[in-house]
Amino acid sequence: MATDTTSSRCLNCGFSASPGSERWDAVDDPTLGRLTRCPDCGSTNVLSGR
Ligand SMILES: [Zn+2]
Repeated sequence: MATDTTSSRCLNCGFSASPGSERWDAVDDPTLGRLTRCPDCGSTNVLSGR
């Protein structure tokens, strides 16, 4: 199974898209700053690729 390091992936539901893609939601956390949020499940547990 190949690992696509050019994609960010949601660890909760498996959604993946290019990092910085408009397909991702973004939230501003007062502590952590800007976070990528999964548009499918709303989780911010996203593994960022490069
Ligand atoms: Zn998700």
